[in-house]
Amino acid sequence: MEWLLSMPKVELHAHLNGSIRDSTLLELARLLGEKGVIVFSDVEHVIMKNDRSLHEVFKLFDLIHILTTDHKTVTRITKEVVEDFASENVVYLELRTTPKRNDSIGMSKRSYMEAVVEGLRAVSAVDIDFAPHNIDGNPVNDMIMNDICNGTTRKKIYVRLLLSIDRRETTEAAMETVKLALEMRDFGVLGIDLSGNPIVGEWSTFLPALEFARAQGLQITLHCGEVPNNKEVNSMLDFLPQRVGHACFFQEEEWKKLKSSKIPVEICLTSNIRTNTIASIDIHHFANLYNANHPLVLCTDDSGVFSTTLSKEYHLAASTFGLGKWEMFQLAKTAVGFIFADDGVKQDLEGIFDLAAKKLD
Ligand code: 5GP
Repeated sequence: MEWLLSMPKVELHAHLNGSIRDSTLLELARLLGEKGVIVFSDVEHVIMKNDRSLHEVFKLFDLIHILTTDHKTVTRITKEVVEDFASENVVYLELRTTPKRNDSIGMSKRSYMEAVVEGLRAVSAVDIDFAPHNIDGNPVNDMIMNDICNGTTRKKIYVRLLLSIDRRETTEAAMETVKLALEMRDFGVLGIDLSGNPIVGEWSTFLPALEFARAQGLQITLHCGEVPNNKEVNSMLDFLPQRVGHACFFQEEEWKKLKSSKIPVEICLTSNIRTNTIASIDIHHFANLYNANHPLVLCTDDSGVFSTTLSKEYHLAASTFGLGKWEMFQLAKTAVGFIFADDGVKQDLEGIFDLAAKKLD
C-alpha cells in the first residue's frame, strides 16, 4: 500500500461535495444543529453510515448540500479536498461540482463557483497550479497561481475544474451552467459533466446544452449506464463524449460501441460496489476493459461518501485483479493521456511520471 500512496496519480472523477472529510461534515452538522436548522442526532448516523444504496447516496447528497451550500463553506471544503488529494500524491485533479443557486443567501451559480476558486486560492499545505497557461508559459490570470514554495520538496498538484449539470435541471439551467463554464475558462474550467440521480431526467433535456458546450470547445464527460437504460446509453455513446463515468449496465452492443470508439472510462470500483451497481468486485468490468487494452482511469467518485482514497482504489484493483507495481504505475501514467488540460500540462505530468519511474524498483 505504501508504494501506491507514494506513486504519482491522476484523479479524473471526483465530485467536490462527495469528497468532504467526515470530520468536516460532522462539524458542519453540529453547527447547524446548534442553530436549530437540523437535528444533529438525526443526521450523525446518516453521515457515518458506510453501506448505502444508490438511492440513499442521493438522499445523503441532499443533506450534504444543506450543510455546505454557503460561500464560506464551499471555499473551505474546496481547500480541504484539494489538500487531501495532494497529500496522497495525486498530481493532477479534475474536480467537478454542480454550480448551485440559493437565492435566500444571495448565492448564484457564478458566486458558488467564485467560492470554489477562492478555495483553490486558499490552498496552503501544497503548491497548486490551477490556471491555464498562455503559449509563453505564463498563467492567463496570474492572480491565481499559488506557487508559494516552489523549488522545495513540497507537494505540487495541478487542479482543473469541470462544471456538473444535475439531471434534475431544465434545459435552460443546463445552458446557464455551460455559459458559466465558458466565462470561467480562465479560472481553469475545462469542461462539463452530466451527473445526478440516474433515474431522474431525460437525456434529450441536456443534449442542447451539451451540444452547445462542445461547439464552444468545452470537453464533456457523462455519467453513463449507472442504471439499466439501453436507449440512453446508446445515445450517450453516439454523442461521442471525451470520457464516460461508470459504464456499469452495458449490453453486448454497447460494449462493442464503447470499445470501437475508444472513449476512456472513469472506473469507480468502491462506489460501484457500495451502491450495488456491480454485484461483486471480481466481476467488475474493469478486468474486461483492462484486458482489452481499453483506455481507463481509476477514480474515487466520492471519497468522503464512500470512505475511500485514490490509493485505496489502486490497491483494490491491484489485489483483486492480480496487478503488480509496474502495471499499476503504467495504469496511473496512461491516465495523463485522458486529462482535459492542455499539452503543456500533459508534458509536465509525463515528466513527473518519468522521474517516478526511475525510483520504481
Ligand atoms: P457536487 O456537484 O454537489 O459538488 O457533488 C455532489 C453531486 O455530484 C451529487 O449531488 C450528484 O449530483 C453528483 N454525484 C456524486 N456522485 C455521483 C454518482 O455516483 N453518480 C451520479 N450520477 N452523480 C453523482
